[in-house]
Amino acid sequence: MGAAFCVNNEPALSAQANLSLWPSSTRSELVAILMALLTGPMNAKIKIYTDSQNAIHMINNQNNKLSRKLLKQSNSLILLKINILLQEKKMDLVLMKVKGHSGDAMNEMVDKLAKNVCSSNSYFNNRFNYGNKIVRYFPTFKQIPIEYNLRRFIKTLMNTRVAAEWSMLKTNGHETQIAWNITWNLIHRYKGFNCISSKKHWHLIFIVKLFTKLLPIGTTLIQQKPDIYKDFACLRCNTNKEENRFHFIECDANKDLWPIIKSRIQDDLVPIIQKLSNSPENTFKVIREKLNQLLGLQYDDNKFIDFCSLALKAKISNKLSTISKQTFGFSELKNILFLASLLDSFIIHFKELIWLPRCNATIAGKKEKELEEKIN
Ligand SMILES: [Zn+2]
Repeated sequence: MGAAFCVNNEPALSAQANLSLWPSSTRSELVAILMALLTGPMNAKIKIYTDSQNAIHMINNQNNKLSRKLLKQSNSLILLKINILLQEKKMDLVLMKVKGHSGDAMNEMVDKLAKNVCSSNSYFNNRFNYGNKIVRYFPTFKQIPIEYNLRRFIKTLMNTRVAAEWSMLKTNGHETQIAWNITWNLIHRYKGFNCISSKKHWHLIFIVKLFTKLLPIGTTLIQQKPDIYKDFACLRCNTNKEENRFHFIECDANKDLWPIIKSRIQDDLVPIIQKLSNSPENTFKVIREKLNQLLGLQYDDNKFIDFCSLALKAKISNKLSTISKQTFGFSELKNILFLASLLDSFIIHFKELIWLPRCNATIAGKKEKELEEKIN
């Protein structure tokens, strides 16, 4: 992104520079105005034509603002410099709005100059090297001035740090590529101000436990309390198998439950898809067929098993996301909404039909064991 200005009717007298840091269209207009003012003589009356109403508004409303308020706005350092220049060079500035891209010859010319500058390596480096009586210091990060709402900047910085640390955890190493947006969308549906009932609250906790692998399934229990759970096995089938994530899918006790979950997911999703796709071609029958294409016809279809094993971690693979986008012809956003609903529906029915009965069986099993120990 570049900034440029030229002197009216003197196309040869122009200057341009590349922008670095927080580039925006307003910033490039402000930099161009600052450059123009730098070249102006003392006591001059200056008229600048710009196509940015925002830049005009920001410069004209600079006066009588407290430093606290000045530092809160974007591009604060450039605005400060413009203000100091105007005062010290005793300039009289008038800003005029021209309509952008409307055939104004000079406007078209500076636009071209600003675009061409990208190939050059002249940069506008904004440093805090002079202040005034209102602003005597300026917040910086690694010697870069923070020309942005400070509070928001610190929040973003901290969030980025936490996210970076989290993403490097070993548990986030995946062989399959994950479509993270879908998980974030699902969590967002239940967090903060969207969490309006205790039911939603417990559902959110369940999702987060699935996601962070903190659900107390056999494998986790054995790791956490080996002395109590050392020979813990699935209590709902008689195979004596370790209760890991995959066992939920293959366990005999769940054999009749998975088809119910699959058909309930379909019942939940068909109206959602119809609403999202908004096309008369997508009748219930067509949507059901497409859903079967996506998730497999039977519950023991590999497609459905692949979906389940990731959905049990509250995740959806990139591959499934691409296929669903193609199958239903969704936009990126609608695809995310659809897949987050799919994940949500899966989690709700898994919890009701498989997880809760499993917990009851585990509690009953534990009581029985304690009783046995007491008798012996
Ligand atoms: Zn089992």
